[in-house]
Amino acid sequence: MKAGTAVDWREGLDAGDLSSEVLVRASLERMEALDPALHAILATDAPLSLDLARQADRRLQAGERSPVLGLPIVLKDNLNWTGLPMTCGSRILKGYTAPYDATVVQRLLRAGAVPVAKANMDEFAMGSSGEYSAFGAARNPWDTSRVPGGSSSGSIVSVAAGYAPLALGSDTGGSVRLPASFCNVTALRPTYGVLSRYGLAAMASSMDQVGPVAVSAADLALALSVMAGLDPLDSTSLPLPAAERLVPLRPARLQGLRIGLPVEYFGEGLNPAVRVLLDSAIDLLRDQGATVREVSLPHTRYAIDTYYLLCTSEVSSNLSRFDGVRYGARVSTDCLPDMIAETRDAGLGDEVKRRILLGAFCLSKGSYDAFYLKAMKARTLIAQDFLRVFKDVDVLATPVSPSIAFPFGAHTQDPLAMYLADVYTVPTALAGLPCLSMPAGFTAGMPAGIQLIGPAFSDVSLLETAHAFQSLTRHHLETPPLSA
Ligand code: GLN
Repeated sequence: MKAGTAVDWREGLDAGDLSSEVLVRASLERMEALDPALHAILATDAPLSLDLARQADRRLQAGERSPVLGLPIVLKDNLNWTGLPMTCGSRILKGYTAPYDATVVQRLLRAGAVPVAKANMDEFAMGSSGEYSAFGAARNPWDTSRVPGGSSSGSIVSVAAGYAPLALGSDTGGSVRLPASFCNVTALRPTYGVLSRYGLAAMASSMDQVGPVAVSAADLALALSVMAGLDPLDSTSLPLPAAERLVPLRPARLQGLRIGLPVEYFGEGLNPAVRVLLDSAIDLLRDQGATVREVSLPHTRYAIDTYYLLCTSEVSSNLSRFDGVRYGARVSTDCLPDMIAETRDAGLGDEVKRRILLGAFCLSKGSYDAFYLKAMKARTLIAQDFLRVFKDVDVLATPVSPSIAFPFGAHTQDPLAMYLADVYTVPTALAGLPCLSMPAGFTAGMPAGIQLIGPAFSDVSLLETAHAFQSLTRHHLETPPLSA
């Protein structure tokens, strides 16, 4: 399979020019050929995937049509897919087999999509580079000496390297957007509540969202259309307005679109070469009749601190279930407290332990007011900044990351430097807003993305705006030089 768009494969399948079995076989062959170098995949079940492909072909032959029927899709390894191992990139879940399907996976299966693999990731989705996977990092297909970005490293690499036209990741503070920028793909973080998290291993529940990954915005819309919709099994679930406009996705009218550029996102620290790419992307939108103005989100400077206080607090609570009793490969000892301590010590990596300790500290009696409660207040201020600017603009355009993909090891000795990679992606996560990352061009052979942010529940309009941009550009169609 060559990297293709889901929309193209869709047409081929519907016209009968191609079968799901052919697509899925090509997908499995491409993984086998390329993944020894890229390490994006943790598990496959080829007989099961081929069986699902043949079922999809029968449905197609019977005249059934659905946005994802017959399309291969890769799933991040924190999503339950019955019968397949689910590790969340952690040693502690080695040997765990998913006993049920996550709601999003169930909806994809029902609509006839064909999962082909479980994808590598930073351990429990904590990380920005992919390097915190307990099973070795995935590599950036544009330059294998560089990180792919994280935490949805394997899902992003799978689309970038053409293993599959679609993938699912998860985005708590940027985990689909950042790697999308580093690897030249398009990824959406929906409004909080739009996609069910039932069956997604929890990291920081007040921010976790499932995020679809694809070559283009129109492809993302295919996947979103079958996954969105109320789920009684996730109490935060809400319906997606205007979902009927997703398929086929039409480009937004750029004439008169009011675009805001938050000054706080274009300051010191942004790589000048990335800035040049963003400027030309924004010029293109302006040439099409959009109006562009500077806006201010003054509490942005508190976003990293706020995010890492709240995220670690929630992590410390969510990960308590990995204790060797409820979940987790047990290290046997004579007494229960030792068993729990040794199980966690042996099973969890350094970054996960760091967050559990920091989070437990933030939530402790003496620190709660000074850290957790303070961060909750800052979160409200950050969210209010966005509410205010969306009175004057329709969409915000920003960088996704201050830099292009960095070399392996650049930040692993310095957790704070790693956290700073998230400076442009965590504010929207705190505010629960929809945002996407899409390719904006290349500098020194490496891609960089542009982020679009919209008001809550404007997901469909956001995709339409991205589609308009992608109808005018070809960056997203560039593929990395890979030899199988
Ligand atoms: N990089 C961020 C973190 O490490 C975001 C992770 C995510 O979105 N899952 O927390």
